[in-house]
Amino acid sequence: MNENKIATDDMNYDKILREIYKEVSPLFNQGKVVQYIPALSAVPASKFGMAVCTLDGDVYTIGDTDERFSIQSISKVYALTLAFKMVGEDMWKRVGKEPSGNPFNSLVQLEYERGIPRNPLINAGSLVIADILLSQIPDPKHEILKFVRKTSGNSDIQYDNAVIASEKITGHRNMALAHMMCSFRNIYNPVDDVLDVYFHHCGISMNSIDLARSFMYLANHGVIPQSNEYIISNSRAKRINALLLTCGLYDESGDFAFRVGLPGKSGVGGGIVAVLPGKLSVAVWSPALGPSGNSLAGIQALELFTTKTGMSVF
Ligand code: GLU
Repeated sequence: MNENKIATDDMNYDKILREIYKEVSPLFNQGKVVQYIPALSAVPASKFGMAVCTLDGDVYTIGDTDERFSIQSISKVYALTLAFKMVGEDMWKRVGKEPSGNPFNSLVQLEYERGIPRNPLINAGSLVIADILLSQIPDPKHEILKFVRKTSGNSDIQYDNAVIASEKITGHRNMALAHMMCSFRNIYNPVDDVLDVYFHHCGISMNSIDLARSFMYLANHGVIPQSNEYIISNSRAKRINALLLTCGLYDESGDFAFRVGLPGKSGVGGGIVAVLPGKLSVAVWSPALGPSGNSLAGIQALELFTTKTGMSVF
């Protein structure tokens, strides 16, 4: 392994991905597939897919990259982008931009901080984003799906209704978070409508290639490189990437920045997506999770990727 490798355009990504797959596979059995969402609890821990999309339009893959999985919290980034586009800096009156240092579904901090979530990437923050969208547009579920299809270039991306139904039955913590924020007057729409939008976007199902593609606008200063379509300003893309770096992996965000050095977002379905602005996006899926709810092999794979390529934001 060459730890000092300099980023070049003739990087042998295929070889690097093969090495990564081999090196992370012993981790597949060491984590635990998410159990609190029953519809996801039987996904095989041995699944692994990794896809790299470069701004030049190249795609490199290894493993189960054609298989769809539940992106869960990764979807919070699409909802955040839409809300940021609509309400701009006013958003920060209702949600903060600091790491939480707490589990993604924690109630404790929210009580202390009077219903203002630490950031838009923890569950409470994303519920506020869902509420903002409900106040802005008639059908946020439709708009979020449209957004994902547009940014990924795949018009066939769907909601997984079994996963959504599963979360509606078991998502008591999310219900508690939404009701608590309602009591602090930081949710304006009916709680059930807010939860419905939130559970839907968490239930988007897509494969690693689509996932990497759908984050290319954040690797390309707010513009979809494939279509040249403007999504958000350069400055706002920078702000979203800053939130991904500081808050994207919950209370493991510091460790992820330390080990990987890229803005990224994880989900309890085992997906993680990260971007290197100006260069590429990379998505990985491995369902077995560590104690913070992030994919064990996924983090290791991304750490190996930035180490082997010498590419990171630092
Ligand atoms: N839908 C999941 C929940 O609300 C998302 C959690 C995650 O992916 O981190 O609990």
